[in-house]
Amino acid sequence: MSCLRVGHDELLARGMSLPGLARRASALAQLPPLGLLTIAATAPADWDIDLVSDDGRDDEADIVDRILHHRPDVVAFSCLTPAVDRAARISALVRRQRVSEKRIVTVVGGLHATAAPSHCEPHFDVVTSGDGEVTLPRLLSDIVAGQMQLRYSANGSYCLAKSPTPRWDLIGPDAPPRYTLQTMRGCPWACSFCAASRLLGLPRTKSNDQIERELAAITAMRQRPWIELADDNTFASDRDHGPMLDALRQCGARWFTESDWRIAERPDLLRQIAASGCRQILIGLESSVFRYRGMGAKTAAWQRMIDAVDVIQAAGIIVNACFIVGADGETPESIERLGDYLETASMGEVQLTLQTPFPGTSLYDSLKAAGRLLPGDFSRYTLFDVVYQPDQMTAEQLQNAFHDLVSRVFRDDVQRRRDKIQKSIRAIARTR
Ligand code: SF4
Repeated sequence: MSCLRVGHDELLARGMSLPGLARRASALAQLPPLGLLTIAATAPADWDIDLVSDDGRDDEADIVDRILHHRPDVVAFSCLTPAVDRAARISALVRRQRVSEKRIVTVVGGLHATAAPSHCEPHFDVVTSGDGEVTLPRLLSDIVAGQMQLRYSANGSYCLAKSPTPRWDLIGPDAPPRYTLQTMRGCPWACSFCAASRLLGLPRTKSNDQIERELAAITAMRQRPWIELADDNTFASDRDHGPMLDALRQCGARWFTESDWRIAERPDLLRQIAASGCRQILIGLESSVFRYRGMGAKTAAWQRMIDAVDVIQAAGIIVNACFIVGADGETPESIERLGDYLETASMGEVQLTLQTPFPGTSLYDSLKAAGRLLPGDFSRYTLFDVVYQPDQMTAEQLQNAFHDLVSRVFRDDVQRRRDKIQKSIRAIARTR
């Protein structure tokens, strides 16, 4: 279950139709579900596996029909926090059905199930936590043996170098416009708002051979593919990135990833990244008013990070600068100042989200302990809806200021200005 979700009607009306956001939403919708394709490859060969994707737009009953069409014994869901309540409703509909007089078992896994298993338990027969490469084979073997448990968890010690090549065949005959490839799982930092960095265990990397195998599988389906690296912070590990970047260059890929700004201060690495076909990097500049705990060496003075953006773009790579709005210390005036800055800033692309305390993060724990979480279910945890009490303004003021910011930053003329910047950066890339 994927895609960008927005709960707030006004933002939906004002912001999500704006070109910048619509473009990113469409790019996200094109991404194949790498986690499911990967764990599908760990199932024993005598299990038939089918994939049903849900971007949240179809009627839930239609999704259930598409699932039941395959006459399943087991239905495994993978979803992030904002989609989990929808997954729970679909699970309830599926659990009412029987196939050949047998009950269908529903299972949920992924980051939300790992962070908040007790929230999932009432809605699914089985909840799995941690690396799916460990939990799914154990679950399937127990089902065959008639010994199914209600909870399965991996302890984070799974060797990522053993992760199988994803089952791309499950996507069907039409090649997706974008492929995904994970080169590392986790991140050495532990930014207090980030659920991805440590939840599945300490950071681990794939071997160069494995990355080459996955690239070969992708290029067998499409020449010169577009690839999104499904990493949390690709260049934060201490691996030698040379072989991996060589492999990307040799297969002619154009690719996108997430990293931190410090690659700008490693000129040799930056040159290799640019030469390997990297077209865009999402860089978290995070909050303009607050420095989160756990950011380690990624914490820096604002101007040093902005200078880094310019260095990366001068190498021919578009920076998609990512800002979190609403951290402690934020006021309507500071949000307006951010808008002033972004209307003329040098980055080729911008991503704006509201601070969102996802379960499993220390931000969630601290806001919960302070009694600052607003009532309501997890479907509001979209990154675009205020779900906690800000410290310097009301929740409504923050939501309104965020709407105004989105309207300004993704306005046609401002987006056109960024498009021109992107064009000039692509011209640099063509001269390589
Ligand atoms: S650097 Fe990025 S991936 Fe790492 S903990 Fe911070 S936000 Fe998460």
